[in-house]
Amino acid sequence: MSGLIARYRDRLPVTAATPIVTLDEGATPLLRADRLAAAAGLRLGSVHLKFEGANPTGSFKDRGMTLAMSKALEEHSRGVLCASTGNTAASAAAYSARAGLRCVVFLPRGAVAAGKLAQAMMHGAEIVDVPGNFDEALAAALAVAAEQGFTVVNSSNPYRIEGQKTAAFEVVEALGRAPDFQFMPVGNAGNITAYWKGYKELGGARPKMMGFQAAGAAPLVLGHAVKNPKTLATAIRIGDPYSRAGALAARDESGGAIAAVSDAEIVAAYRFLAREEGVFCEPASAAGVAGLLKLARAGRKPRGVVVCVLTGHGLKDPETAQKTPCRRRTFRAGRRFQL
Ligand SMILES: *Cc1c(COP(=O)(O)O)cnc(C)c1O
Repeated sequence: MSGLIARYRDRLPVTAATPIVTLDEGATPLLRADRLAAAAGLRLGSVHLKFEGANPTGSFKDRGMTLAMSKALEEHSRGVLCASTGNTAASAAAYSARAGLRCVVFLPRGAVAAGKLAQAMMHGAEIVDVPGNFDEALAAALAVAAEQGFTVVNSSNPYRIEGQKTAAFEVVEALGRAPDFQFMPVGNAGNITAYWKGYKELGGARPKMMGFQAAGAAPLVLGHAVKNPKTLATAIRIGDPYSRAGALAARDESGGAIAAVSDAEIVAAYRFLAREEGVFCEPASAAGVAGLLKLARAGRKPRGVVVCVLTGHGLKDPETAQKTPCRRRTFRAGRRFQL
């Protein structure tokens, strides 16, 4: 069986007539993270990383895209369209290349990490630069799509959420139970909505959902939209989340929280994961881990089994990675080299 839809067909809205567009997404690693557990003062073996960077295009967006693209093909769509901080565009571009559908991506100008833009270009997406931020790009994309009959593959597309909920199924399969806490980044808030849906559908115990926004882009923490969201974590630089209601329901129904972490805390967690755990995620992906470390420092340690979702691969954003201090010297032939 290849891909999410094949594995979870009975829990997804597909029929025998649905043409399946897949790149064999999902089945990502759940890695035990003992150095992170130690840094947070938690029991060894209690903290795990769900590494969504191991998906075909390097982010969790592939989970929703396999289903959204399959349904678009089934519905004889003219083409697909999205607004994106980069990963949705990269995923839509790859899956529409596979489906043979036209793909148009609306990108906030200057705010998309290099790896993501490279993917969209390579897979043949048509790029529309929007002078403005993600929220403005999304408004533009939704208006154009409604007028011209393209399928929107943002997380406003319900099939995206359906596909993404499968990550919760995988976590429970890997642990043999639901975790007690799940820490994750929150941007447009589709993913926290999707995980919560997945855990609820499984029945039984559910984790407390702990969502983290960047302090400069924290509308769900502030309780109002943010006009000019600011953070180096471009994947969560969103001022007016589409799935606000879903995120707040996940928080309230689970007894969890949605809080903010600073860019400095995000970068510290991002570097820690790469150096101490060997897991290279993109900056936004580290927001949940930054939140875990922040709570632990404040003496509010979670009890029990903890899963941190790492949403995307570090290679997506080489610019930020290359600003990390590193020990680097030049080799001179003929001179002794001291290690
Ligand atoms: C899309 C994305 C997010 C935010 O997910 P939402 O569903 O918008 O909350 C976080 N991290 C990465 C790497 C992403 O691509």
